[in-house]
Amino acid sequence: MAQLQRIAIAPSQIQANLITLTQEQQHYLTRVLRLRPGDRFIAMDGQGKWWLSQLQIEQAEILEPLTVETELSLGINLIVALPKNGFDDIVRYSTELGVTCITPVLSDRTLLNPSPQKLERWRRIATEAAEQSERAFVPTILAPVAFNTAITASTATHRYICEARGHYPHFHSVVKSDSREIVIATGPEGGWTEAEIENAIASGFQPVSLGRRILRAVTAPVVALTLISAISENIVGE
Ligand code: SAH
Repeated sequence: MAQLQRIAIAPSQIQANLITLTQEQQHYLTRVLRLRPGDRFIAMDGQGKWWLSQLQIEQAEILEPLTVETELSLGINLIVALPKNGFDDIVRYSTELGVTCITPVLSDRTLLNPSPQKLERWRRIATEAAEQSERAFVPTILAPVAFNTAITASTATHRYICEARGHYPHFHSVVKSDSREIVIATGPEGGWTEAEIENAIASGFQPVSLGRRILRAVTAPVVALTLISAISENIVGE
């Protein structure tokens, strides 16, 4: 199946066994991917469903549903303070690594207040990265909120905040392989303020280390998600 091209569609585009393609999708399939009527591709709805489909002209026919096994067995919500640079990369890499939801937050040391168009851009990047990684789900990218709103809204049983300084236990030693839902927060270039760490602890977050070196704001989520997937897939893969 790996050789087939994949495109994301909205569930509302499907009626019976036909997918009505938007102009943009038709352009992408025929001009960019150079598919012709009769060629097959994979349509994914970003919510866990994939279908083997056959291109007609302005629509495609669903031939059969496909099973995908590329998702982690647990949900991961990444709360990430918007960095000055590199948020596109955070969205892309986190999606490749299996994140479920990204909550961008404005923290005490966040320097930028992003324009609303950015959200659309991040969602597009997540969709492309999910296609590239053959994921069944396109992660949800929420609109940016204040740090305190994000941490108090969080209901997951396992909550962690990454802190580059201080003597906190390594994330690897505390993250549980049987977790069903994990929330993990990483800070901006300037790091979290003491007040933010205290608030997070008060909201049930455990401060953790990702090792003895100070990682960049873009690297920290990659390391945290890599550790989670290694621990989770080690069990699932046995
Ligand atoms: N300028 C800050 C570091 C910011 S690094 C300082 O000098 O302290 C950006 C974010 O990445 C941090 O807020 C933290 O969430 C995460 N991070 C980086 N290195 C880390 C490490 N070794 N352990 C845990 N979190 C880390």
